[in-house]
Amino acid sequence: MNDAPALAYIALGANLGDPQAMVQNAIAALNALPDTRLIRASSLYRTEPVGLKRQPDFINAVAAIRTKLSPQDLLCALQNLEATHGRVRSIPNAPRTLDLDILLYADQTLHTLALTLPHPRMHLRAFVLAPLNEIAPDLQIPGRGSMAAWLPAVAGQRILRLPVTA
Ligand code: AMP
Repeated sequence: MNDAPALAYIALGANLGDPQAMVQNAIAALNALPDTRLIRASSLYRTEPVGLKRQPDFINAVAAIRTKLSPQDLLCALQNLEATHGRVRSIPNAPRTLDLDILLYADQTLHTLALTLPHPRMHLRAFVLAPLNEIAPDLQIPGRGSMAAWLPAVAGQRILRLPVTA
């Protein structure tokens, strides 16, 4: 655990209960993870659901963290946060109180049963790319090139940046 902390990007999403408060609380909770510091968080965005359409809009954001946790330990910590925020896993793409994904972990590529890095669908989702473009417009996605180059492809997905509240 003496290595320099890695820069990682986390996607946050919620569409049940009070999703804005849920995402804001989760951003604060990232800063409280062991050996982890929040570097930057995007605005909140209201977005249309992907997959199952007949469910409430999502609130999404992304955050940059520096962490000494390994990718696997970070995933475990995020799943604990999801659980403590009351997420119940049912069917894929179903409504959820809180969803946390690792988008990028330094420039690592990884493909195990539990974890794929970069996140395999991050370049296809406006709710990931738009907030990433806000906080890290020059980001490179290992294996996929410039993050910003994927933005035109998601231009048809409905997404609204929410005003910052005090
Ligand atoms: P989801 O229900 O979409 O949040 O997917 C969660 C599942 O995806 C978990 O079983 C994780 O082990 C797996 N997974 C694979 N890659 C990732 C990643 N980069 N970030 C978060 N979960 C991942």
